[in-house]
Amino acid sequence: MKFISTRGEETVTGAEAIAHGIASDGGLFVPEAFPEVSEDELKAMLPMSYAERAATVLYKYLDEYDFEELKAACEKAYSQFDEGDAAPLVKIDSSIYMLELFHGPTCAFKDLALTLLPYLLRKGCDLCGIKEDVLILVATSGDTGKAALEGFKNAPGIKIMVFYPNEGVSKMQKLQMATQEGNNVAVVAVRSNFDDCQSAVKTIFTSEACKEELEKRGYILSSANSINFGRLAPQIAYYFSAYLDLVSSGQIQLGEKVNFAVPTGNFGNILAAYYAMRMGLPVGRLVCASNKNNILTDFFKTGVYDKRREFYKTMSPSMDILISSNLERLLFELSGRNAVRTKIRMDKLKSDGVYEIYDEEKEELAKLFYSDYCGEDETVETIYEFFEEYQYPMDTHTACAMYAAANYMEKEKDHDTPMVVVSTASPYKFPQDVMYALTGNDIKDSFKAIKHLNITTAMKVPKSLAGLRDKKVRFDTVADKDKLYPEVLRFAEKK
Ligand SMILES: *Cc1c(COP(=O)(O)O)cnc(C)c1O
Repeated sequence: MKFISTRGEETVTGAEAIAHGIASDGGLFVPEAFPEVSEDELKAMLPMSYAERAATVLYKYLDEYDFEELKAACEKAYSQFDEGDAAPLVKIDSSIYMLELFHGPTCAFKDLALTLLPYLLRKGCDLCGIKEDVLILVATSGDTGKAALEGFKNAPGIKIMVFYPNEGVSKMQKLQMATQEGNNVAVVAVRSNFDDCQSAVKTIFTSEACKEELEKRGYILSSANSINFGRLAPQIAYYFSAYLDLVSSGQIQLGEKVNFAVPTGNFGNILAAYYAMRMGLPVGRLVCASNKNNILTDFFKTGVYDKRREFYKTMSPSMDILISSNLERLLFELSGRNAVRTKIRMDKLKSDGVYEIYDEEKEELAKLFYSDYCGEDETVETIYEFFEEYQYPMDTHTACAMYAAANYMEKEKDHDTPMVVVSTASPYKFPQDVMYALTGNDIKDSFKAIKHLNITTAMKVPKSLAGLRDKKVRFDTVADKDKLYPEVLRFAEKK
């Protein structure tokens, strides 16, 4: 399968798309066409393990990879999850299910892609004959950074550098990154927000001068952000798997539709659901949930994407984003795959901070997506009420999706279609906020909050989080947002 850029004529293989991360025209790589999964193929996937299902879906896009090798890589990646189950589906009531994607090494859904990306990237480089070492730059709103560091630590021929907003991540997230082990990693806090981190990294990626300078030092640049198709592809698999689990447990018949509600920031997770639908998965509606930073909700409602607004820090920091990168891939589809139109809009976003789509596109959007946002008070209430009613503790991001899902079911009077709420992080990643929601207690110390949360919910504490307390802080660099490139060069020098 070939891949094309959303902004131009560039055509590459899947291996090249993953190795480079982003197109040289600044666009994102998308498959030339959506591969289809027939009902018979779905049926054949029913008895498979999660790893086999994932390999089957991935191979549809990455057919120049070796299937058996891909399967072995998936098995290795997903064996790192609790009880070997990467994406368990938990039934809440007659129509609501939680797809728990937080049982991996860093307790957030990013693990599903980032435990596998090192293989996809290394193999991708081999397949296209890249001999240089790979330098991965990551901008993170909290969870991607840790999952990428953990996935790539000590990987031969790869170095990884992560930038996060100094004041924009939770205490646990910060501690997870600052204590990261490995001989090929670096972490830099940035005196700004996530959008600036992401823009700075994108600028380095698309600068010819940076590229040449790093080439001289023996590196090619790549990305572990969800702009990289290698991040997106593994995420498509869990939508298939959740659907298959509903069929095999007798909740639905093969062919019946289900809805998914996804807490959204950079639009990567929900875009994977859209891709699954385009491949033939029977999906009704996709509920796009935002937090107080409700730029996407406004966009879906008005057709105008306007980032000239206040940026809020919320208790769901991984969704505190105003420039939602992967929306570009959806815009490309909405425009009938019109690269010129997509490029004009993205340029306009950069120069004016705003663009607008056509009415036909807006209508198409409304057919597929329902969009809503969840404020801070609603986040707290949702966590509390859901625990009261179902004894199910959820994290602050998942609460946004649950809130939007409930609104969708009420407003659109759709109580019968199964609703799968995508649970993106362990409540233990945001223990203070979750404890506050459940009990009203404001606990300052994260580890104390973890202990109390455990007493309150009886949910098992992930070892990787509890163990942070005794780890040494290795990284304490703080940089201005226009001083990231010197940090990159310094890191690239270090052997
Ligand atoms: C990254 C993240 C999100 C947002 O996912 P996108 O793919 O950026 O839309 C939501 N919840 C959690 C816990 C995350 O880490």
